[in-house]
Amino acid sequence: MIVMKFGGTSVQDSAAVNRLVEIVRKKIHLHPVVVVSALSKVTDTLQKIANQSYTGDLNGALALTETLQERHILMASQLLSENQPYLEHTLSEIKEYFVKLREIAGVVNILEELSNKSMAKILSFGELLSSYIIYRTLNNAGVKCDIADARCFIITDDEFLKGEPDYNAIRELAPIALNLAFEQSDVVITQGFISGTKNGLNTILGRGGSDYTAALIGMAMNADEIEIWTDVDGVHTTDPRRVENTRSITTMSFSEAAELSFFGAKVLHPATIQPAIEKNIPVRVLNSTEPHKSGTLILKDEEVQSCGVRAISFKEDIVVINIFSMKMLNTFGFLTKLFEVFGKYGVSVDLISTSEVSVSLTVDTDLNLDRVTKEISRFAKVTVNYNKSQVSVVGKNLKETKGLAKRIFGAICEHNITMISQGASDINVSFVVNKEDLDSVITALHKEFFE
Ligand code: ASP
Ligand code: MG
Repeated sequence: MIVMKFGGTSVQDSAAVNRLVEIVRKKIHLHPVVVVSALSKVTDTLQKIANQSYTGDLNGALALTETLQERHILMASQLLSENQPYLEHTLSEIKEYFVKLREIAGVVNILEELSNKSMAKILSFGELLSSYIIYRTLNNAGVKCDIADARCFIITDDEFLKGEPDYNAIRELAPIALNLAFEQSDVVITQGFISGTKNGLNTILGRGGSDYTAALIGMAMNADEIEIWTDVDGVHTTDPRRVENTRSITTMSFSEAAELSFFGAKVLHPATIQPAIEKNIPVRVLNSTEPHKSGTLILKDEEVQSCGVRAISFKEDIVVINIFSMKMLNTFGFLTKLFEVFGKYGVSVDLISTSEVSVSLTVDTDLNLDRVTKEISRFAKVTVNYNKSQVSVVGKNLKETKGLAKRIFGAICEHNITMISQGASDINVSFVVNKEDLDSVITALHKEFFE
C-alpha cells in the first residue's frame, strides 16, 4: 500500500478536490491511504475563533465560524451538485460539525477558559471537515472509499497541542483500523494532524503535522511509498522565491533533505518524515496542480548517488557571537562552562568554529541572548554581531569532493565571510555572510553549481 498526503492548498477548493480525485483514482491498485489537511488557512481561522471566544469577542468568533461554514458548504455543493440526496445528507453532517464548534466556542466564552485541551478540540474541526467532504466526493465519483478517524490510531501522550506519538500503540492500532476499512473499499481516507490519547482525548501533532501523520501511517503499515502532494513541484535547488532559474531536484537522500530544513521546511519538514526514514520508506514530493511532473524522490542515503552539490540552503536572520578568552589556552573545561550557559537559557546553537583562544558560534534568535552574553562576560570577552545570514551548500560526500572550497569561495569572492564551518557533517559546508549580501551570494552560488 501507499500513503498519499494532500496539504491544505491541495484541498483548498472544489477544483483542487477534483484534481485529488483524479490523482487518487489512478493509484487505486496501490491501495492508498489518503491523508488530508484542513482546507488552506482553516486551521489559522479556527485558532482565531478559539482566541476570540476566549477574549470575549464571541460575536467575532461566530462571524468567522459562519464564513468557515459557508466555505465548506459551497465546496461540498459544487462537488456533489449532481447528486441532490447525497448532497443534502453531506450538508447536514457539515452543519452538525458547526453546531458542535459553536457550542465549544460558547463554552470557552462563558468560562473564560481556553485550555490546550479545548484548543486541540477546536483545531481538529478543520481536518474532520475536509476529510469528510473528500470522503463523500470520492465515493460519489465512483471510488470505493471508507473513512477512518485518525484520533483512534494516531496515539500520543497528553501534550494536547503537540502530542508525542506513541510508536508502539500506532504500530498496533493503525493496521487494525485501516485494514478493517480496506475490507470493503479500495481507498481509505483519514485526517492529518489530529490524534488522540490512549484514553480517547483529542490531541494534535502540532502545526503542519499532517506530513507527520503520513509518515507515521507509512511506518505502521509498512508502506511502499509516501507521497506528499503540495503546490510546488518538489524540493528545489534553492528557494525559488529568492533566486531565478532554480529547478526541482529529482532524487535526494534523507540526510540531504534534513540539511535543507531551513527553506526545505516550506515544502516538507524533515523531522516529520523521521518515521519513514527509520523504515526506509521512499518519500516523494509532488505537485497536485501538475501531477504529471515527477517531483522529488527522497531515498535512504545508500541508494542515492553523490553528485556534488545538491542544493543551497540558507537562514536569513542569524546572530554571530564571538567569545575570546586567554584562559582557553591549554586548559580544559572552558567549552563545558560556555555551553552550560546556552543550555541554562535554552538557546540553541547552530554553527560553531573554534581556535586556540576563541569560539564563534551562531544562534537564530535573540531571545534570552542578553542574559547569555551577560553571564559569559563574567569569564570571557563577548561580542555580538547582528544582521548576518547563514548559507549552507548541501550534497552527499562533499567532504571528499576536491576543489569544492575553491569553487564556493571563488564564486562569492567579492563578499565578506564572517565564519566558516565544515567537516561536522559529510554533506554540508556552511558559512556566514552579511545579511545584505545574502541574495547576491545565493544567486552566485546557484549560478556556479546549477546553471
Ligand atoms: N492543518 C494543519 C496546519 O495548518 C496541519 C497541516 O496542514 O499539516 O497546521
Ligand atoms: Mg500544511
